[in-house]
Amino acid sequence: MNTFPLFFKLDNQPVLIVGGGEVAQRKADLLSRAGACITILAPKISDEIQALLTDDRHALITEHYDKKYIEGKRIVIAGTDDEALNHQVHADCKALNIPVNVVDTPPLCDFIFPAIVDRNPIVIGISSNGKAPVLARLTRARLETLIPQGYGKLAKLAGDMRDEVKSKIPTLTGRRQFWEKAFEGKVSELMFAGRSVEAEQALKQQLEQTHQQLISNSDIDQNATHSAKPAKTTGEVYIVGAGPGDPELLTFKALRLMQQADIVYYDALVSDAVLDLCRRDADKIFVGKKRSNHAVAQQGINQLMIDAAKSGKRVVRLKGGDPFMFGRGGEEIQALRAASIPYQVVPGITAAGAASCYTGIPLTHRDHSQSVRFVTGFLKSGEPNNGFESLTNPHETIVFYMGLHSLVRLTTGLIDAGRSPDTAIAIVSQASLPTQQVMTGTLQNIVAKHDANPLPTPALLIVGEVAKLHDELAWFGEHIVNTDQQAHALNMI
Ligand code: SAH
Repeated sequence: MNTFPLFFKLDNQPVLIVGGGEVAQRKADLLSRAGACITILAPKISDEIQALLTDDRHALITEHYDKKYIEGKRIVIAGTDDEALNHQVHADCKALNIPVNVVDTPPLCDFIFPAIVDRNPIVIGISSNGKAPVLARLTRARLETLIPQGYGKLAKLAGDMRDEVKSKIPTLTGRRQFWEKAFEGKVSELMFAGRSVEAEQALKQQLEQTHQQLISNSDIDQNATHSAKPAKTTGEVYIVGAGPGDPELLTFKALRLMQQADIVYYDALVSDAVLDLCRRDADKIFVGKKRSNHAVAQQGINQLMIDAAKSGKRVVRLKGGDPFMFGRGGEEIQALRAASIPYQVVPGITAAGAASCYTGIPLTHRDHSQSVRFVTGFLKSGEPNNGFESLTNPHETIVFYMGLHSLVRLTTGLIDAGRSPDTAIAIVSQASLPTQQVMTGTLQNIVAKHDANPLPTPALLIVGEVAKLHDELAWFGEHIVNTDQQAHALNMI
């Protein structure tokens, strides 16, 4: 460690920035957020800086540099494009022992501006000690994704309650346990879900319970008759959309909850790569329902989740795509509500979104399609969905989920209902996975094409003129395989 990370109080402190351009502006922006009183010294000061530092506590001096301006400053930053001047500022600061930073010149820096993750009052500074600032920024980006926006609010709430907690929980260990529970449990979850008032109530309730517990424990200790049992708390269920398979399509929220899970119940559609991102120690239990192979029937899954939550566990129910898109998320929530189990639902990227973006088939396009329908190939009872009358608008895209096994029924159904046999159609198999494949055709010829070269499930059907755009808009990276083009390429070899 060749620099030491300190968090410097600059609120109301005088800071000098020599320079009036973009570099100076970036530093001024950061330092003003920390409450510093900034003096900008430069013969010419940009409009942007003038617009930024309108507050009276700042001063803009349009003069050439003079040593007198550094006196009394807490820190000085030199950000001019005049190297000699930067050296001069550095030397003058050294003489007066004032910490100085010459921007982008590590040997002339007493301190470094870190990359910052700001969840005020939680602040994280990351430095590569001038060796690889871009890597420091990338590290910051990773942390940004891991630390929820609600962190700052949580820390503020904790700060406000600190004294009360201290007075009600006398031991250090007791307080540590109290805060761990608050920051890893219900209180933090409510805060991250944007429910700050409820989070505060939950924290107060947790404090009251702990306090009562301590009082009754000490009564019991005095009587020494029987031991106190901690009250059992109910866990929570997170119904999380795992997206279509590519782990990079998970949401930050999904990832965070997956990493907190005590137990994960996952579907057949959840990819291994996604499952690997769950907390290592969590129990991972497959409850998938493949066509004609119901590993655990829906009621059974509901009961498993309810029982686990009642035993205090944090349960993640990981579902392919989006939980509310042909995902039975609604049914699971009804069961949870009936059992009074707290829950959250996290949206995921539905298969249609991935299939469309990863194959260059926009679901709408102003020249071809003005609306989209998401349609299931099957009804709850397992009966085929044959409601084709409403699917005949030539300017509407239809996406069939669970449709590949019924390709014949769906294509003939649409043609019989009046949709043109020449309507374009695409089959997108295993969208977003490295094994993704696309086959395009028309309602009339797709069955023969597919019979000749069947694609694996899961697969979506995209019906409508937009499917024609695949040839033009697809990006043929290593993950994208068009079976027609593949065949063509093979023929050419
Ligand atoms: N909740 C899921 C859909 C579940 S229904 C979602 O929002 O995506 C199951 C159907 O989704 C499959 O039969 C298939 O039609 C489609 N599907 C799911 N993942 C897919 C994928 N990676 N590629 C293509 N289709 C997929």
